[in-house]
Amino acid sequence: MNDEMSAFSIIKSVASRGLADQIKHEGDRVDGRGILICGKCGEPRQMFKSFPNPTKEDPQHRSTIKVVVMCRCERDEGVCQRVWQDSGYPGGKPYGQQIFNRDL
Ligand SMILES: [Zn+2]
Repeated sequence: MNDEMSAFSIIKSVASRGLADQIKHEGDRVDGRGILICGKCGEPRQMFKSFPNPTKEDPQHRSTIKVVVMCRCERDEGVCQRVWQDSGYPGGKPYGQQIFNRDL
């Protein structure tokens, strides 16, 4: 049986690509567990999540991997986020400024 392309291996490769592509914001920091914390809102931008990873010996086995999640400002900003990154200004600018930039 070929189990190289298990659901878990696909999740894992997608998750690691997401981490590799994640753009760090000015002021972001990494906590003691290696999780990236947003420098603006203080919410985690990554988390450890457990996924089913069954083996022959243990069909209920789960493995924990790090995945990208959206912090509060990313959720709030949505489409504005790319503009914010492109403009490259430090975190802490007023939210309204980001809206304004998008409309330019
Ligand atoms: Zn944030």
